[in-house]
Amino acid sequence: MTILRADAHFTLSDPAAVLRSLCEHMIEHEAVVSEQDGGTLIVTGASRAVLRAGEDRLEACVEAPDLAGLQEMKLAVASHVVELAPPGSVAGSGWSGDGSGPSLLPDFRVLTVIGTEPLTPHMRRIRFRGENLARFASLEALHVRLFFPPAGLAEPAWPMLSEDGLISQPPLEQRPAVRKYTIREINVAAGTLAIDFVLHGDAGPGSAFAERAAAGDRIGMAGPGGRGLREAERYLFLADETGLPAVARMLASLPREARGLAVLEVANAREEQALEAPAGFAIRWLHRDPAAPGAAPLLQAFEALDWDEDGPGLYLWAAMEHETFRQVRAAARQRLRPARDQHLIVSYWRNGVSEEQHALEKKAAARAA
Ligand SMILES: Cc1cc2nc3c(=O)[nH]c(=O)nc-3n(C[C@H](O)[C@H](O)[C@H](O)COP(=O)(O)OP(=O)(O)OC[C@H]3O[C@@H](n4cnc5c(N)ncnc54)[C@H](O)[C@@H]3O)c2cc1C
Repeated sequence: MTILRADAHFTLSDPAAVLRSLCEHMIEHEAVVSEQDGGTLIVTGASRAVLRAGEDRLEACVEAPDLAGLQEMKLAVASHVVELAPPGSVAGSGWSGDGSGPSLLPDFRVLTVIGTEPLTPHMRRIRFRGENLARFASLEALHVRLFFPPAGLAEPAWPMLSEDGLISQPPLEQRPAVRKYTIREINVAAGTLAIDFVLHGDAGPGSAFAERAAAGDRIGMAGPGGRGLREAERYLFLADETGLPAVARMLASLPREARGLAVLEVANAREEQALEAPAGFAIRWLHRDPAAPGAAPLLQAFEALDWDEDGPGLYLWAAMEHETFRQVRAAARQRLRPARDQHLIVSYWRNGVSEEQHALEKKAAARAA
């Protein structure tokens, strides 16, 4: 088997301390760390890095069986060295060896629109073609980050892995807006996938793209991310329109004998979709009109559920607007006491607040805490 290899060194003031923090961080992310021949060996999957701390220099040698693994390891080492050292104190040599020179990020793909299809008045399916999609086909990680270039740009600009192994962003005016979406269908052999977009007007770049998308348009995709569904005796799914693509994909992939209930909130009867589900699954639609998106019919339905089968047999998956998410999470913890690996309750959007603003507010709150 061919092994690809790249080397770099970083000049910094306390390399041993940075190496220690880097190892702690990598161990938290399931890397295996050991001492070897006077160096520190970090192994993640099939990729490895050997790091040696000198007086004012950290030497790194990374190896992997393929280019994606090599670039991911380069990025992990370089970005953590920069992050963990005092700001502005690191000078990198740049990487030499395999895969040097600027390249797209290893988990990044360019997607081209090949078709669109209205599913309901406010949900549009967009089909894309892309290369090398195998890593996105896992049911363990359903969502991706989509990169929407600013409207009117003749040639989209993407984030790149630069020669120093770090991510370089396009200039601000060309920088794509990033939003999370769910892969609804994927066919790796054909190189195609479909994403279902909620149409909520021109308010944000995601929805604006979906309203106008036409064959030939290009966006970027990175990932995938998220946590997969656990095996359970019974499932409870709660979602509004934004979580509906994930619920639909999970329902279609569950074993035939799976049992459970999906409670799905949409604006009105015209927004309901035909879903493929195991026979032992009940699907209950809730209609929100005339209330605005982000109103709480899901919470009310959850509180009214006659569901006394608490315990290890139940898996709860819920995705919805932020305020409803907070209330459902509090109610679920009180009512069902689900263990950490038996539930996933997440906020998918926040009423009246864009994704960027929401992220900024979360950072500010974390700093204040
Ligand atoms: C893991 C994950 C997976 C997701 N999967 C999907 C998916 O498959 N399909 C999908 O459509 N969405 C999905 N979402 C939700 C989507 O990321 C958000 O709705 C996102 O805010 C849309 O970006 P935007 O650019 O359209 O709006 P933003 O720029 O983020 O927001 C602009 C304005 O639009 C409002 N807004 C945002 N979303 C909605 C909405 N759904 N209805 C009404 N108003 C809204 C905001 O409150 C804000 O006022 C997912 C989110 C996460 C976290």
